[in-house]
Amino acid sequence: MSKQPLLDISDILERIRPGERADDARTLIKHAYTVAEQAHAGQIRKSGEPYIQHPLAVALLLADMGMDPVTIAAGLLHDVVEDSDVDLKWLAQEFGPYVASLVDGVTKLEQIDKFSHKSEGLRNEQESESLRKMFIAMAEDIRVVIIKLADRMHNMRTLAPLSEERRKAFARETLEIFAPLANRLGVWQWKWELEDLSLHHLDPATYAEIAALITERRLEREASTQRHAEILMQELTKENIEAENSGRPKHIYSIQRKMRRKGVPFSQVYDIRGVRVTTHTIPDCYRILGIVHGLWKPIPGEFDDYIATPKDNMYQSLHTAVVGDDGKTLEGQ
Ligand code: MN
Repeated sequence: MSKQPLLDISDILERIRPGERADDARTLIKHAYTVAEQAHAGQIRKSGEPYIQHPLAVALLLADMGMDPVTIAAGLLHDVVEDSDVDLKWLAQEFGPYVASLVDGVTKLEQIDKFSHKSEGLRNEQESESLRKMFIAMAEDIRVVIIKLADRMHNMRTLAPLSEERRKAFARETLEIFAPLANRLGVWQWKWELEDLSLHHLDPATYAEIAALITERRLEREASTQRHAEILMQELTKENIEAENSGRPKHIYSIQRKMRRKGVPFSQVYDIRGVRVTTHTIPDCYRILGIVHGLWKPIPGEFDDYIATPKDNMYQSLHTAVVGDDGKTLEGQ
């Protein structure tokens, strides 16, 4: 994997949106950085970079997610209790109870994580689920789980210097615990990246193969998706339905899963185009579904109503699949 340029606290500060409290936010974050930098002084990551690069990267992920300044500050400080002689009491005096309790939460999750590592061997799905539940229950504040996910994201992005055995153990745990947590919290971008990074380490050959095929077929696929989306959007305008078309990229891990689950080759999974439309009201969702089924022939058994039965994370949508104008499957959400 390519070497990232070194981060600087200004990379985080420049992402703080201007506003009434922006100065307070910057002061808090700068202070957290100073403390973290001193606490980790002299510590080096396996990659050879100064340790502070890790909390900086975690804070940057949190800032990019639009998290609040307290969470970003806690992201900068998330490893100090574990890895230096700074303690919680001092953090609470220095930063107030909110930053301190987030750092405390992340440190506690770290301990469950370590404990669960000791009882190694493969976890079964039930054990993974209870671990995921424990993570959420332990974290009285969901922001603790978000920080932990950012921590895992950066660790997964920088696994290269570790032994193959450790990389695979990390990747397996990420697939079992952290990607499903990201999914549950609705942080799709992180879920996809965690899954793709895991596959990259668990099965590098398959990963490389799918990545190469995607590059080869991308243009053709995008043109076809675009054409179908335009036809649909024109129809919605005619019907006075306000809606937005948001593309839906396919990720390497989800392609691999589907190939395996259905026992089909790449082309059959990848040639499935997806159009995703978002709208303002539930009745409009069903009207759009009717229009889609009027334009193209629905494929029996492919309709799911996640409005009537929402998913765990409260995700609500209608899923369908139709035969597109070129005879290939088109999925609609
Ligand atoms: Mn960490």
